[in-house]
Amino acid sequence: MAHVSRLLWEDIVQALLQSRKDEYADGRGNVIAIDVRAFAGNVDCTRTLMAPGAALYQVVKADGYGFGIERAIRLGLDAGVDGFCVGTIQEALRAKALAPAHPILLFTACPPALLAGVACQGVIVTVNSVAAYQALDGLEGARFMMEFDCGFGRFGLDHAAFDALLAREGQRTRPRCLGGYTHFGSRAGAAFDEGLRRFDGFGAMLRAAFGDDQLLMAAASHGLVWRPGLPYPGAHPGSLLYGMVPAAVAPGFAPVLRSVTSPIIQVNRIAEAQSLSVGYGSGVMLPAGGATGVFPLGWNDGLSTGAALGSVLVRGRRAPVIARTLFHSIVDLSGIDTPAIGEAVTVIGTQGGERIGLHDAADAMEIAATELHFRLAGAITRGVFGGDHES
Ligand SMILES: *Cc1c(COP(=O)(O)O)cnc(C)c1O
Repeated sequence: MAHVSRLLWEDIVQALLQSRKDEYADGRGNVIAIDVRAFAGNVDCTRTLMAPGAALYQVVKADGYGFGIERAIRLGLDAGVDGFCVGTIQEALRAKALAPAHPILLFTACPPALLAGVACQGVIVTVNSVAAYQALDGLEGARFMMEFDCGFGRFGLDHAAFDALLAREGQRTRPRCLGGYTHFGSRAGAAFDEGLRRFDGFGAMLRAAFGDDQLLMAAASHGLVWRPGLPYPGAHPGSLLYGMVPAAVAPGFAPVLRSVTSPIIQVNRIAEAQSLSVGYGSGVMLPAGGATGVFPLGWNDGLSTGAALGSVLVRGRRAPVIARTLFHSIVDLSGIDTPAIGEAVTVIGTQGGERIGLHDAADAMEIAATELHFRLAGAITRGVFGGDHES
């Protein structure tokens, strides 16, 4: 408290009390930053993979892919997306409040009994079953989209259910069907192409029944990457927009998770060579004259629990992480000018001329970039959030 000014301390207390998503929210000093420009660039790149003039619906489920739904929606509004897709009723209502003029599509997420209430809030709901369809019966002003099962056995209407609904739909004029979608979550292959054929079959029937202006969407991240230019009036990607697909697969896209940094809170010098036994891992040999540093990010914050702990940047140099506990990581500082308490450890990001990107860190920890993104963005942003960077 000695070197924290009174004003700063009051800020910290306020932030702790209000649990604001900023740098001090849990008081440990960890900061996550997102790259606003990367998101805008990813939106532009995505449009080049879509049919000309198609609408871009940004998927903001899973609390805005971990960034917080408000933040994710603001990114989308600034980058000029045309609509948003959400995963829960709560997200739907928050999205509607933030972007009242944009279409908000609620994916299959809730029991049919709750659909009518959400639809009455102006949210486009999903009909994925006969029960969901019936729940909307006669609802004035409600709008929905159908989700089709294109062979994945996961969500959506199969042909028999769809035929039954179409027959009924001929007799009712409300609510209004806006279109249909499906989700391809895997790389292209025979099943993908067969799925697309099924989707086109559903789409043709929908258009025949309700007219050509039906919004058909089958291009999520993998559809856009593996089959660019799919001729649908809408696309609804998630991971691609946040830069979670590696550049080798999606050239031109960059991670929106720009950096994760943490302060050094302890430095230990090693006078004699010794085996360090920390956390729950096995011992690590440290040379005489070396040092270790501790930073307050651990398993609980989403960092890997496996054998591969990765490395971080300290004083612009790469340093291996040698142990990890629930709340802390220990880094081997041997051969590095010993840093001061409070100096930054970069888990993801740039320091000096060195850079560890999301994909590098994921490779080093031997997990998928998607997984690392969700672990970090999900865990850290709940408590801590730094400034958004412009570049
Ligand atoms: C999550 C989701 C998407 C976006 O998925 P990505 O593969 O990350 O682009 C699209 N559609 C549906 C139905 C989803 O659940």
